[in-house]
Amino acid sequence: MRLPIALARLALLAAAPALTLAAQPPGARGATRVEPGAPCPAGTTEIRPNLCQAPELPAPSILDYRPRSTLVTTEHRVPRPKYPAVDYHGHPGAVDTPEALQRLVAQMDSLGLGVMVTANNTSGEALKRAVAAIRASPAARDRVRVLTGIDFRNVGPGWAEKAVAQLEADAAAGAVGVGEIGKGLGLSTKKADGTRLKLDDPALDPVWQAAARLRLPVFVHTADPQEFWQPIDYTNERWLELALFPGRRYPGDQFPSFEQLMQERDAMLRRNPRTTFVIAHMGWHANDLPRLAKLMTELPNVHTEVGAVLYDLGRQPRAARDFLVRFQDRVLFGKDSFQPEEYPYYWRVFETRDDYFDYYRPYHAFWKLYGLDLPDATLRKLYYENAQRISPGIPKRR
Ligand SMILES: [Zn+2]
Repeated sequence: MRLPIALARLALLAAAPALTLAAQPPGARGATRVEPGAPCPAGTTEIRPNLCQAPELPAPSILDYRPRSTLVTTEHRVPRPKYPAVDYHGHPGAVDTPEALQRLVAQMDSLGLGVMVTANNTSGEALKRAVAAIRASPAARDRVRVLTGIDFRNVGPGWAEKAVAQLEADAAAGAVGVGEIGKGLGLSTKKADGTRLKLDDPALDPVWQAAARLRLPVFVHTADPQEFWQPIDYTNERWLELALFPGRRYPGDQFPSFEQLMQERDAMLRRNPRTTFVIAHMGWHANDLPRLAKLMTELPNVHTEVGAVLYDLGRQPRAARDFLVRFQDRVLFGKDSFQPEEYPYYWRVFETRDDYFDYYRPYHAFWKLYGLDLPDATLRKLYYENAQRISPGIPKRR
């Protein structure tokens, strides 16, 4: 009985060589050869130099491929920062009632936040209400501060005088800075004459200069990640995000280009050297730190903030660490969207030496993060000292 089974096996092997994968030379099963440097055809991948092959099994979509890492390494969860942090890019919702403030301060305590700066352009009566509520709250009095906003609608003759008067009133009412000036400025806001309002429009200079005089830093978000302007093809590293959120696409026939917006922003920063600017989201150059380093070296009035770009810092831990140490006096912590469960990812990236861990939004980043292990002096500046220095109105509790 043993011989026929062995013979049957041999016959099977001869009839179906494709099943004996281990014995096959690479490319034996229908591989495609490509010119050196040429990409593999769609549906195939490079298995040897210039040799592309399709998988034998149907490939999962990028939504469904969720490999479990087998890496065994130490993990350090960091539920709270080493030093109480100032969140300079806060959008925590209403701060103008005792109940809202009570709730917010309780959340801040559990997150290790010392001060929340609300960056919601709160001006005029709304600002006065918020500041009054904060001052009346024993819990929030030293924990919450408010940025004012500038109304960029109808810029034209007479606009600057009104805007400066409002800024002066808001500074007197207790605003500690200006912002977050949204990306609409540059992308879409129109002047009174119907043309696009550019960031470096001279009509805005009196307002930037008033901010300098009033010691109000200007917190400004310009443009968005550069890939949002690129074709949504399979080389775009934000493909999934752009496919999920159509509003993040900036077709060239409807919007100024990324580079044009950067040029206008940089011209504004350059023309107002006495104004302290904080460019949000690391100026959307966290993926190009040499470019940001060049800008910040040229312009000492420029500070930046780390909100919502952790995926770019954490994927280049050595370069990011070097940058944050080099510019340690000019980078502020900020989180942007208020999702309490996301803060600990920041502390872990900044404080640990952990390898290869997940970011909090898979559609942002197809890669893992690594800890930067920042020195204590840099952490203190990033977390609170820089914010306290540039915004005198932010309480110093430490
Ligand atoms: Zn924001």
